[in-house]
Amino acid sequence: MSGGDMAKPLLGHQSMEGDPSITPAAGRTIGVLGSGDFARSLAIRLVCSGFKVVVGSRNPKRKAGLFPSAAEVTFQAEAVKKTDVIFVAVFREHYSTLCDLADVLAGKILVDVSNNTEINHHKESNAEYLASLFPACTVVKGFNVVSAWTLQSGARDGNKQVLICSNNQEAKRTVAEIAQVMGFTPVDMGCMSSACEIENIPLRLLPAWKIPIFLALGLFLCFFTYNLVRQVIHPYIREQKNKFYKIPVEVVNTTLPCVAYVMLSLVYLPGVLAACSQLYYGTKYRRFPDWLDQWLQHRKQIGLLSFFCAALHAVYSLCLPMRRSHRYQLIETAVKQAVEKKMNIWVEEEVWRMEIYISVGIIALGLLSLLAITSLPSIANSLNWREFSFIQFTLGFIALVISTLHTLTYGWSRAFDENQYKFYLPPTYTLTLLVPCTVILAKVVFSLPCIQQRLLRIRRGWEKGRYVKFVLPSATGEYSSGETSSNV
Ligand code: NAP
Repeated sequence: MSGGDMAKPLLGHQSMEGDPSITPAAGRTIGVLGSGDFARSLAIRLVCSGFKVVVGSRNPKRKAGLFPSAAEVTFQAEAVKKTDVIFVAVFREHYSTLCDLADVLAGKILVDVSNNTEINHHKESNAEYLASLFPACTVVKGFNVVSAWTLQSGARDGNKQVLICSNNQEAKRTVAEIAQVMGFTPVDMGCMSSACEIENIPLRLLPAWKIPIFLALGLFLCFFTYNLVRQVIHPYIREQKNKFYKIPVEVVNTTLPCVAYVMLSLVYLPGVLAACSQLYYGTKYRRFPDWLDQWLQHRKQIGLLSFFCAALHAVYSLCLPMRRSHRYQLIETAVKQAVEKKMNIWVEEEVWRMEIYISVGIIALGLLSLLAITSLPSIANSLNWREFSFIQFTLGFIALVISTLHTLTYGWSRAFDENQYKFYLPPTYTLTLLVPCTVILAKVVFSLPCIQQRLLRIRRGWEKGRYVKFVLPSATGEYSSGETSSNV
């Protein structure tokens, strides 16, 4: 899952928004221990949401000016006495310095908002550590996934979800209620043992993007090396021609579409493999291997990276005529023609090839843009399942077919030209066609009525060799039931 996806409630964790047991809490007094960035932003948001705020600082006189005038800034012990719910906006390393307050804190709710600097930095989570220091308090983990900036700018502009966990349901409900009044969406993550997971969330760097990015970089590296050998190294070794100037633009621009095209086919290949597995085992209830499961979950990121490479390819292609080398080559060709007294250089086949090549390329990019836009959560949420699957699966597949046409019109007859096999290496486009054509062929086979019907039945729950209950109308119009093999 992506950073954005990680912020979504995980399966099995419930959003507490709209929970009837949550009642408005505005007006109650909330305590904040600490006067740093987070404490300040929290106090501002709490005041704006209608709460009374009392801030506990070691040096209230110096810090008071940093807080809104509606918030009371006082000594830690004083602040704690005035409220039952206290946000501990202090780093874990300083929790022990609060131990002097243990007596006044007894029986109160402490909200641990802390984060670590490394994933699984400590054996126990910060919240569990805080609970161990203050056994007479009820600790709730929450608000750590919200940044000080989000707090200040309001829930509208930042991440709206606040993940909450605690061993005490009542305390969790109270904190959820406060979060909701502040405009956030409280998400119940269960008991205190989830605190470690919640604390790790802000430290993860694009968890859902790692594999797709490595895949894209790997493909880029392979195709770049291949193109470099064909376009630069080969002319240098065989003809002593210096073509190294091609590396920054031309080689990159021939590599990008290869990556985009193969990545697009990799979005649809796992679906084909999954269908093959379902057809082979005759059931949809068999778990896919882990690698296939992972692959299926990363399709969105792979598709977005494909779009990114395709967009870069379009920009690079538009800039090709701007290069000096291109101008020199044009003039050189014109001079050669003048010397050879050639008047008509129009090649009808080449003209048509280029027109079709550019046109289908633009259509493919347009469709990829549509796929990318509709994969954004805000847009995807506004579509029903039918609309979403039509765009992502049907139009996506059409984009793959059109990209194949784009590749074929680019390659044209080069695959049959001996001179194109530099160091016996076939033209790059022939390699890129392998996976997409396999996917297209598989999809065509799956659309054959006999296979399509079987796949459809499997996806509706039919299983090979399993006995299923059937219901038949009797001669009298009544229904009788019995057992039969669904294979028959
Ligand atoms: P900060 O700016 O450094 O503030 C920490 C505050 O802790 C200080 O202002 C200080 O207030 C108080 N404190 C109490 N005892 C202390 C001691 N012995 N030594 C030093 N300071 C002591 O840090 P912050 O950014 O506000 O972060 C506070 C907590 O919020 C951390 O646990 C952090 O992980 C968490 N958090 C922060 C953000 C964010 O965006 N900043 C986001 C999520 C979570 P007094 O001097 O008034 O006592």
